[in-house]
This record gives sequence, C-alpha cells and structure tokens, in this order.
Amino acid sequence: MKERFDAIVVGAGPAGSAAALTLARGGRKVLQIERGEYPGSKNVQGAILYADSLQKLIPNFRDEAPLERHLIEQRLWILDDRSYLGSTFRSPAASEAEPDRYTILRAQFDKWFAKKAEEAGVLLICETTVLDLLREGKRVVGVRTDREDGEVYADVVILADGVNSVLARKAGIRPELGAGEVALAVKEVLFYPQETLEDRFGIQGEEGVAIEMVGKITRGMVGTAFLYTNKESLAVGIGCLLSDFRREKIPPYVLLERLKEHPALRPLLRDGEMKEYTAHLIPEGGYRSIPKLSGDGWLIVGDAGMFVNSVHREGSNLAMETGRIAAETVLELKEAGAPLTESNLRLYRRRLESSFVMKDLRKYRHVHEVLENNRHFLTTYPELVNRAAETLLRVDGVDKRAKEREIARSFRKRRSYRGLLSDAVKLWRAFR
Ligand code: FAD
Repeated sequence: MKERFDAIVVGAGPAGSAAALTLARGGRKVLQIERGEYPGSKNVQGAILYADSLQKLIPNFRDEAPLERHLIEQRLWILDDRSYLGSTFRSPAASEAEPDRYTILRAQFDKWFAKKAEEAGVLLICETTVLDLLREGKRVVGVRTDREDGEVYADVVILADGVNSVLARKAGIRPELGAGEVALAVKEVLFYPQETLEDRFGIQGEEGVAIEMVGKITRGMVGTAFLYTNKESLAVGIGCLLSDFRREKIPPYVLLERLKEHPALRPLLRDGEMKEYTAHLIPEGGYRSIPKLSGDGWLIVGDAGMFVNSVHREGSNLAMETGRIAAETVLELKEAGAPLTESNLRLYRRRLESSFVMKDLRKYRHVHEVLENNRHFLTTYPELVNRAAETLLRVDGVDKRAKEREIARSFRKRRSYRGLLSDAVKLWRAFR
C-alpha cells in the first residue's frame, strides 16, 4: 500500500463519510479506512437522524436512504419514581411536507452513506485499523495501518475515528478524556409486530414517536433516557456521565432495567423480543472539551472532535456538518494552491465558529457544570413538579386556592425562597 492520496479519512461513521464524499465530489483522490467489517458494524445510535445536514450532501436522500420512521411526535417526560409530568408536540403535518427527523438503524444507514461516498469515487477499505499517524517533522503525511506493508501517504489526514480517537490521543492532539467529559450510554432494541407499535403509539404508516426522559430515573446522575420507535422495534436507552457512574457505583444495565420497569414505560415495552444490547460512550464535554481542530496536514471531525450537543441529543448531524466543512476547507485551500499547513487549516475552525455547530455548543457550555453542582435539579424538582401535578389534579373536596398554597409550601419547604430564586437564575444562565 505505497500509493499516495490527496486525503485519507479515518473512520466510516457519519463524519468520515461526509468528509470523504465531499472531497471525492471535489475531484480529489480519497482513501477511507474503517476498522469494522463494514461501515456501521461498530456503531451504536439511539437513533434519530436530523435531516438538514444530510440533505446538504444528498438532497434526494429520502428516496433511497434506509430510514425507519419520520417523527411526528416528540415527548419530554420528567420522571419521578412512579409518575411523570410531560409535554408532547405532535404535528402530523410532518408527514405531508419533507420530514426533518427520522429514526434509523445505524448499521444500515452507515453502510448506505459510505456507499454514496464510494459511488462518488472514494476508495473504502474495511477491516483495517489505523494504528498511527505518520509524520515528517511536525507535519502529518499519512497513516500506518495494521495491514502488512500498511503505510499510506496523503496531503491531509482527516480523523473521523469517533469518541475514543486513539489516534488523536496517541498523537498528542487530544488529551485523555476525563470521566466527566463522556457519558456512558446503554441501549436495548426490542422487536414487535408493526401493528403493535402503531396501536401502542397512535401512529400509522411510516410515522414515529420519540420520547426523551429526565429526572429521578438517573438517581441524581447527570444524564437522560430515551425511547424511539423504529419500523418493527423500539430503541430504549439511558446514558449518564461516566464520572457519575463511578461515583455512584451503579452498573449501567441496572439503571436500564429500572427504566424499563418504570410504570410509565412498562406498558409501552411489554412483550418485546430483545435482540440487541449495546453500550457506547458519548462525548458530552461540550464547547470546553473541543480540542485543537487542525494542524500541519490533519483535521479532526465528529465525535473525535467532541462535537455533540447533549442538550438536544444531536451528534450524527454535527458529525456530518463538521465532516463536510473540514472537506470544503481542504478543497478550497487546494484549489487556491495553498499548502495544508497549520495556519491555513485554521480556516476550518473559523468556518465552524460561524456555523450552528459552535454557536449551539457555546450556548450550552455551562449546562453540565450547573447540573453537576446542583443535583437537586435532577432529583428534588422532578419529585416536586410531579407531586404538584398530582395535588392539583386530584378532586378531593379541597378548593383549588388551598391546593396552590399547599404546592407553594412544598416547594418552599424543600428549597426556600432564596434557593428557588437562585435555581431560577442558574437555569436561566445555563440555557439562555
Ligand atoms: P462514529 O459514528 O463513532 O464513527 C467512527 C468510525 O471510525 C467507526 O465506524 C469506527 O469503527 C471507526 N474507527 C475508529 N477507530 C478507527 C481506527 N483506528 N481505524 C479505522 N477505523 C476506526 N446522535 C444523533 O444525532 N441522534 C441520536 O439520536 C443519537 N443517539 C445516540 C445514542 C447513543 C446510545 C449513542 C452512543 C450516541 C448517540 N448519538 C446520537 C451520537 C452519534 O451516534 C454520534 O455523534 C455519531 O455517531 C458520531 O459520528 P462519527 O462519525 O464522528 O463517529
């Protein structure tokens, strides 16, 4: 493998395939290397695909991508131990126009997406692990793989090798991940006949529902849970900061079992046939964890660059967006005849700063810190709002004003006036 390429892309997840496809369409000679048996074979996702970033790359993707259901309903549940208070947004109009979010199965989706890159001219090799970056002085000039005679050279290497990015760590591009910067998520896929899902969730045809959950189910750990409808299956999962799992010493599968047994979920999940159980890390450090994004002859994209918006549970779209923008930066520099040096490649970060990717990550940069330092947001408040709803809705001969006073008293008792005020300010600051 002594051939030379314009670009080598490490990884065939959404970030890698977006970068490889963009470069190949720009007329560049691209090698994409994936360690899995096929793209998607090593990928876990919940999984909602946000259409916008894919549509920029493949406008007609709805005609050919392996999509499960388009979401017409999104629910947010605040759970306490036995009930939940929730909001629902349902818009069947999403069926008529071009839907903007879908559930997908990553194993199928990644395979299809990488195929599109191959059709554009990318050379994809699977079952090959990149072990090291090759350097000449400071400059990255290629990669060393686990194949015999496995050194390959290129003008630029794009690291799209996911959250662990062993390569970035080895090369000193990114420090070791702190346990407070990643969430450990566990997920199960349960299978059902299509009609069962449609009856249970009030959907038909290709319509789907997503439920996001916060509250006492995470036992005060910073994290969220989810339930997504696929065509013939449900994906149910929960993820919390790795540092919290270590501190609380609760095994993730125990948390998932408790979630499945919650009275709100049990009826939705009953009689499912479990076919898949997976665990995976999610980069959740946000804006502050983003490493240096480029240097002489290299760029970093997707989860490897810590691009996940954990508040809105967006990751694969940020992966595609950063992959595309990195590739466009390379194309523009090459067309201008500019060398791919550290200073020229800084253009990539500048582009990202003006995109929704960095704007959103910057907006939510304090959220984790606020939650970690104020665990009562995850325990006390879910309990209080659930009890408040119960008090208000119960018809028991007590007049409504008296009930309102009782609710106000219950809040003051647990948090005091000052505490409530300071919590409101903290939340406003974190989410503004
Ligand atoms: P990955 O998808 O991880 O791809 C990296 C690829 O690189 C892999 O195929 C891997 O095999 C390969 N690789 C790694 N090392 C090497 C090497 N040395 N050599 C060769 N190949 C290598 N995002 C959403 O948008 N919506 C959701 O609903 C959602 N839900 C999620 C639920 C869970 C449980 C998890 C874990 C994540 C979820 N995410 C979601 C996040 C999303 O999955 C990621 O943000 C996204 O997959 C990142 O894409 P990527 O291409 O950067 O990395």
